Amino acid sequence: MSDRTTFRSQITHLECSLSGETASHEFPHRLSPKNGKPYLARYDLTKAAETLTKDSLAGREPNMWRYREVMPVIDPSNIVTLGEGFTPLHVAGRLGPYLGMSSLLIKDEGVNPTGSFKARGLSAAVSKARELGQMKLTMPSAGNAAGAMSAYAAAAGIEAHVYMPSDAPMANQIECLAYGAVLNLVDGFITDAGRISGQAAEEHGLFDVSTLKEPYRVEGKKTMGYEIVEQLGFEIPDVVIYPTGGGTGIIGIWKALDEMEKLGWIGIERPRMICVQAEGCSPLVNAYKKGEEFADPFPNPATLAAGMRVPSAVGDFLVIRAVRESGGTALTVTDDQMIESVRDMARFEGIFPAPEGGATLSALQMLLDSGEVGKDERVVLLNTGSALKYLDVLGPVLGL
Ligand SMILES: *Cc1c(COP(=O)(O)O)cnc(C)c1O
Repeated sequence: MSDRTTFRSQITHLECSLSGETASHEFPHRLSPKNGKPYLARYDLTKAAETLTKDSLAGREPNMWRYREVMPVIDPSNIVTLGEGFTPLHVAGRLGPYLGMSSLLIKDEGVNPTGSFKARGLSAAVSKARELGQMKLTMPSAGNAAGAMSAYAAAAGIEAHVYMPSDAPMANQIECLAYGAVLNLVDGFITDAGRISGQAAEEHGLFDVSTLKEPYRVEGKKTMGYEIVEQLGFEIPDVVIYPTGGGTGIIGIWKALDEMEKLGWIGIERPRMICVQAEGCSPLVNAYKKGEEFADPFPNPATLAAGMRVPSAVGDFLVIRAVRESGGTALTVTDDQMIESVRDMARFEGIFPAPEGGATLSALQMLLDSGEVGKDERVVLLNTGSALKYLDVLGPVLGL
């Protein structure tokens, strides 16, 4: 644990992701008050590069806090960790050859605490909330984020309130209760839950940690980008396929690549970022295809992949920008395709992925068929969670 005190956060300020206007990281900010867009954390990367060197990483703790200099928490005693991050990047030794590919990799986020990569975002957000004296948190969530917030809040001794659509997977409802959160079920969509959570925040002085509406969940998720590059020996893959709800992960990985270039770890080259959404909820794919910068809300969202059931995303323009600048693309897959892919990833690799993780494999197959991804390219699929959180949804459709 010595490295947690030796290496310091080099956070300097927050910056509005649209206008560039700045704000202090020493106060609990949410969206920019001027334009309602997300703030992103900025660091003194020249200073960070002095200690955050490729060589220094070898001796650091195997979780996402190994990148301390580019994480937002200043006093290490505020870090709330359950061992999140530094997840395996598996070579898909059977699935790759089955698809005719020479270099297929799966980043398995399902092994994170609470069974999904939401652990990364909430470890960062809850830690920073504690540092800023925010001891009552609230959040709307269709699933895994609520469980992660509840777990980290429990570990920190912080109060947690959850607003969840009543059709969220059973595991997510049960885990919140087990972690001691106040669970409020909402008859409606995630946007309705968001509105009610926002009202509760105002009325009862709760801090709303909805993704990108506070600046630090994306800092947790960006560590996936650091890890992929570190695990590839400081090389970048050709393609990263990401199952997109609000898009925090895509935004985070894209931000990490930019930071790593400034740290001198990589050059100007970038992977093509592929945004996958469900056919039944694809606001970002629609906006990308229409050539737009912002996305219209998606009416009547429907998919069994609860993490991708996000009809409107506050960081829409950041996702679309990352996809375009990277030379990537955006596409949809159906629930049936996802289920088929859940089965394939499980039987070929021994990884039982969330439907969202399955979606990345479905997308890969479509992109191989269309020739947009080559069989000899190095491709990373993000399996963002474990299927074990979706047994009530998956059991019947897998025929069990
Ligand atoms: C939340 C979630 C997603 C979507 O993540 P974003 O970064 O918000 O787009 C994907 N998969 C799983 C399992 C999730 O819980």
